[in-house]
Amino acid sequence: MNKIALNVIPCETNLKPDTKDNNSLCPVCSGSGSFVKNITVRHMISDDLLETVGTSDYCLCMNEDCQIAYYNIDLKIEFKKSDIKVPIWFKKDAKPKYACYCSKVTEEEVITAVINDNATSVKEVIKITGAMNKPNCQINNPSGKCCHQIIQEIIDKTLK
Ligand SMILES: [Zn+2]
Repeated sequence: MNKIALNVIPCETNLKPDTKDNNSLCPVCSGSGSFVKNITVRHMISDDLLETVGTSDYCLCMNEDCQIAYYNIDLKIEFKKSDIKVPIWFKKDAKPKYACYCSKVTEEEVITAVINDNATSVKEVIKITGAMNKPNCQINNPSGKCCHQIIQEIIDKTLK
């Protein structure tokens, strides 16, 4: 049984996958990683691998071409994309590409809101798509961070 207390913190909108806060590089591709708390990894990983996860924190490989999702250099543990319950949006061939994991809003839906409904801000996209409704990104987003910035980037990209 999972006896680890689930200390869920409120969504922080200024957080995004940050390649600068990594403390170790991916053992497979040598790309940079983003620090991810244990609680996030525990919610993302297949149930049969929970025991392997243990109580440590991990890094998320930020390389879109790499098959590795989470890794911990000290423990010599690696989890592949296929070990994770949801597609990791920035990885190649992720399907669907979620912009907001909490409300299951895809990148496609955000683009449609911008093009068809003339949304120009995250606020408008949220209103149209229902994204970030009851956000709990720490356990729903593979990065453990808020999707606010990701939605903003999709809007910027689409408006260009
Ligand atoms: Zn990698």
